[in-house]
Order: sequence, then C-alpha cells, then structure tokens
Amino acid sequence: MSAQNPVFIPGPTNMPEELRKACDIPTLDHRSPAFGRMFRPAVAGVKRVLKMSAGEVFLLPSTGTGGWEAAISNTLSPGDTVLAARCGMLSHRWIDLCQRHGLSVEILETPWGQGAPVARIEAALRADTAHKIKVVLATHNETATGVRSDIAGIRRAMDAANHPAMLFVDGVSSIASMPFDFDGWGVDIAVAGSQKGFMLPAGLAILGVSPKALAAMDTARLPRCFFDLADQIRSNASGGFPYTPPAGLIAGLSRSIEMLEDEGLEAVYARHHRLAEGVRRAVAAWGMAPCAASPDLYSDTITAVLVPKGCNGTDLVQLAASKYGVALGVGLGEVAGKVFRIGHLGMLSDVMVLAGLATAEMCMADLGWPVRLGTGVVAAQELYRGSVPAMALAAE
Ligand SMILES: *Cc1c(COP(=O)(O)O)cnc(C)c1O
Repeated sequence: MSAQNPVFIPGPTNMPEELRKACDIPTLDHRSPAFGRMFRPAVAGVKRVLKMSAGEVFLLPSTGTGGWEAAISNTLSPGDTVLAARCGMLSHRWIDLCQRHGLSVEILETPWGQGAPVARIEAALRADTAHKIKVVLATHNETATGVRSDIAGIRRAMDAANHPAMLFVDGVSSIASMPFDFDGWGVDIAVAGSQKGFMLPAGLAILGVSPKALAAMDTARLPRCFFDLADQIRSNASGGFPYTPPAGLIAGLSRSIEMLEDEGLEAVYARHHRLAEGVRRAVAAWGMAPCAASPDLYSDTITAVLVPKGCNGTDLVQLAASKYGVALGVGLGEVAGKVFRIGHLGMLSDVMVLAGLATAEMCMADLGWPVRLGTGVVAAQELYRGSVPAMALAAE
C-alpha cells in the first residue's frame, strides 16, 4: 500500500490529519479532573450523533465486535432467545457471537443482497406469544453486501406485533455516515466503532443504551467483567473510568464529532449519498450491478460490486494492492470472489472517489475484464460536476 493513497475499504477509513493529531496527547491521569473534562463532551457528542435523548453512552476500549459482546452480555442470560436475520458476513458474526455466549438464536436466513426481512420479523414476533424472544438484532448496514436495512420498519413491525423485545442495532458501518435515529426508531442498544464513520484509529466500541436496556442489566446473568456497564456507570458518574481508558482516542472522538458537526450531520449524510451515487453510476457504466438487490437497499457507505461471470473480485483487489498501492475490499463468506467492495465512507471527497474508480478500472483492464477504461469514471464525473459539491456549499 502507498501511504499517499486513500483507502477504499469500509474501515478502517482514511484519517484526517487533524484527527491523528487530536489523538496524540500527553500522558493523562484518568483519575484527575482533566479526564472528565475530555470524556464528557465525547459522550454528549455521541448522543447528538445517535439522536438519543435518554439513556447512557459508553466508550469502551475495544472494537465494534466488543460492542456486540457488551450489548448482549449486559442484558441477557444464558439460554435467552434472540431473533436475527442472517444476510451477510457481519450479521452472521453477531449471530455467532450470541451462540458462543450460550444464547438461542432464532435465525431468519435471508439471501445475501437482501436486507433484514421486516415482514418475517413481524411474523416471528407474532408467533412468539410466550415472549421468549428478548432481543431483535439488526445490522443497519451489512458491510459485506452493501445493504442498508430498514430499522424504522423493524421498529414498526415490533410495535405492530405488540412484542416487548428490545431492538439492538449494529451501526458500526453506518453511524456518523448515514442518518441514524436512536429515539425515533426506538433503538435499545446502538453499537458503533471508532474506525469507520468517526475516522479514527480502531480501539473504541461506542454504545448507546436505552433506559429499557439499562434496566435489563439488573436481571441479566451472562458473565461480564471488562464490559460490565454497571462499573462504567459508577465510574463515569464521577468523570472517571473503571480502568485505564484510551484517552487519546476519546480526545480524538470529541474532535471527530466537532468536525462532523462543523460540516453539519445532514451535510455529512448528503455527501455520503452523493459519493455513493457516483460509485453506483460507475458500476452501471461498467455493465455491473451492486450486490444489493434493489435501490431501496443501497448503502451510502459501501458498494459491493457483482463481478462478471468468469471474473474474480479478489483478483482485482489483490492487483489494486500490489500494483497500484490501493486498498479495495474483498468479498467475504458466501460472496467471496463474486464481488469486490468499494468503501466510500469517512473522510472522502468526489476527487478521492474518482481516483478509486479509476484504479478499479485499471485493474479490470489489466485482468482483461470486459470493461472500457474511463467509462465508470466518466459516469461518476458527470454526476459530481452536475451537482454542487459539499465543499462549494461550505465555502459560500
Ligand atoms: C466493521 C464492522 C463490524 C466489526 O467491527 P470491528 O470494529 O472490526 O470489531 C461489525 N459490524 C459491522 C456492520 C461492521 O461494518
């Protein structure tokens, strides 16, 4: 990889120089008031990004995966049932994590390229008259397939079934890049990580937890220690931490949220949509299609591109890395080889995306794929030059 080139993977994402510097702080005594002064704005900022008015935010030294573990281990007991759709590698891994914790997972097998099946979720909840299902797990943005699921729709299904289950949402590859509405969607736990939309190094699991999920901690019997949120609540209340916190990352998170809010969260979401549209125009111009089965499912942070018959997406990704020093994403699990992925989230502009598309095209030409150089780039250029970029708006 060339350090000069941006990455086009769905995380870790490109880091703004300013955030690298923000993480670079001198040693800080986390039992001093200085830590609280740094910690509280980060927590308050996450609440604004999540659109969350009640409940607690937790910043744990971990990654998104640890965030999943914290979510379930604090709220559930061995043998509890959770309902989850499996529609890609990330939703699969959350299911696997639940099973390894001794939970019983009612799995809705869903074709990869589809989103969480709202009608089937409602049917499963209606059938569960004994209310065995404690939690519905939903992957907001399935990073393996580039599919956005309808979380508002899942909440409506839960309400329509009049079911008391909680709603846990994996927003690791959507939060801070795509609209998220913790309150509006009735989310009970939202999980994010530092290295995607927040444009920071990996190392923080970021959780929003509703009052209902906090109350579930009282009876939840799954073992937990490092991720015990009750310890966090006790320490955080006095501006402290139950063990040594990753202070640099927490400082970086505050600065990240300032940057996102300076741009404006709506503008950030609009920029991601616009960048994604350019990528999708390019994919169409190549004669290919997104893995996401229909436009309502398109993710604005990642596009998994179905490659032509006889081509292997992994070859393209390997060539992009070895010859051009550019990171694209490989296909995972069921879609390994069948797709390659273009991550378009975080610190990214029109110009950067054009470079990624041009690189993918060079690789296609090198590999003898049936694509003419420049076709995808032109399609994206036409979109980008025909609408006002975020940059120009900001300069007004
Ligand atoms: C990246 C990702 C994860 C895993 O996060 P880690 O930080 O790598 O542990 C989980 N869910 C989704 C949707 C992701 O994109």
